[in-house]
Amino acid sequence: MNRRSLLRLLVAMGLGVQGLGQVRASDWGGKKTVPERVIVIGAGLAGLAAARELQDQAYEVVVLEGRDRIGGRLWTSTKWADIPLDMGASWIHGMDGNPLTELAEAAKAKLIETSYDSNQIYDVDGRELSDEKEKRLDRLRDQFQRAIEVAQDAEKDTSLRQVMDRFQSRVGADEEVTQMLNFIASSNLEQEYAGSVEKMSAQWFDSAEEFDGDDGLFANGYQQIVKFLARDLTIKTSQIVQRVDWEQDQVRVNTGTEEYIADRVIVTLPLGVLKAGRVAFSPPLPKTISQAIDGLDMGVLNKCYLRFPKVFWPDDVDWLECITAKHGEWVEWVSFARALNVPVLLGFNAADRGREIEAWSDQEIVGSAMATLRHLFGPNIPEPTSYQLTRWASDPFALGAYSYNPVGANPKLRRQLAKPVAGKLYFAGEATDQEYFGTAHGAYLSGLRAVEEITSD
Ligand SMILES: Cc1cc2nc3c(=O)[nH]c(=O)nc-3n(C[C@H](O)[C@H](O)[C@H](O)COP(=O)(O)OP(=O)(O)OC[C@H]3O[C@@H](n4cnc5c(N)ncnc54)[C@H](O)[C@@H]3O)c2cc1C
Repeated sequence: MNRRSLLRLLVAMGLGVQGLGQVRASDWGGKKTVPERVIVIGAGLAGLAAARELQDQAYEVVVLEGRDRIGGRLWTSTKWADIPLDMGASWIHGMDGNPLTELAEAAKAKLIETSYDSNQIYDVDGRELSDEKEKRLDRLRDQFQRAIEVAQDAEKDTSLRQVMDRFQSRVGADEEVTQMLNFIASSNLEQEYAGSVEKMSAQWFDSAEEFDGDDGLFANGYQQIVKFLARDLTIKTSQIVQRVDWEQDQVRVNTGTEEYIADRVIVTLPLGVLKAGRVAFSPPLPKTISQAIDGLDMGVLNKCYLRFPKVFWPDDVDWLECITAKHGEWVEWVSFARALNVPVLLGFNAADRGREIEAWSDQEIVGSAMATLRHLFGPNIPEPTSYQLTRWASDPFALGAYSYNPVGANPKLRRQLAKPVAGKLYFAGEATDQEYFGTAHGAYLSGLRAVEEITSD
């Protein structure tokens, strides 16, 4: 067992950290005397999962949501009436044993399997990557992976960029290797974890667990899950929580226009919102929690959907990937031609590049995406008939896409963030889930964990 595996085991065993085992709803023991009143702040997946479970156990629950819609980072746009599209999460990552697979079944939501292996990679010159170069790319990926593993066993944490730089100077990287490495960094690291390689912890960036199996794409959008969980819950939208007062016996939650009072509160505010101090806690949150908020970070992933009159790209693969001259520029595309039989491409921008383009106009973003597509498929491809895009870092109710581990962070911080306070405040949301942070299933499981904490308190 290497040093990192040992650390992970110790953390999992709760040794040297404030322990809190990952408990599923099915493990619940004795119930409390109900009804107690619980306020859930946030109607994203974590909040809805928690509210649903509490209400099913006869608690009185009110969900307070700042936006005028529910779902949070699950958000299915119906702008194109014939093609519902997810602006936040789209997939169940790893369908085998994933609690969301069962939930999707209960909600009668159709899932379509997609695979990262169903891909076409393009070279910097816009042509399909040759077999020989693809082998070189795979070799480089393996070598770089080994360099990361070495860094994970080191005493001191470093950024993934530092590992890359060391690796580059060791292999004497020429322009081609540098471009390939940038591609690997962008597609395998930044697009997946949403943090930039400059900041992500080499030791802990990949500390989350994964479910096995292919990814499941919601044919009619993730909103089916949202609606299913939200049925007959009391949800008050456009209630922007400003202050949580937990000094007295009962907790008071102030939204500027209303005050809500309850025995306990589940806070599912995104890490970005907590970091920005958008909600005041009185008394302030304990130091362990504020340290965790400061120590973790929120990444960026933005989507740009382009709808065309016809498909002009390979229609038999799910992913189109580009080795680009500039780091992170339109590296990853999803084609919906095979999965949904529609002429729609989805381009991603992650991390620093994802943040940078949020300042651009819609026309600039679409223009830049089209320049990449013309580079790949020629000057005569049609203009998009419509587009839809996101700016998650500027969204005041998210302030980022999902959390990641920057240099200096480790899994202990997520346990700290999730630790209940004084039997009154409970914390859920993807960032609080040590095992599956950054994902929809992590958010869902964190909501169930917070309920378990309340019911067993
Ligand atoms: C572009 C993108 C792609 C993604 N892709 C995937 C994917 O394919 N698969 C996957 O598993 N995961 C994916 N994720 C991650 C996944 O969407 C999130 O981890 C998950 O939805 C988070 O749920 P949550 O309940 O923790 O937070 P949220 O959904 O953000 O819920 C928090 C709620 O709190 C509300 N709120 C904020 N401030 C206030 C306030 N002051 N007062 C009241 N309410 C407030 C928000 O409006 C929101 O509704 C993706 C995320 C993004 C952004």
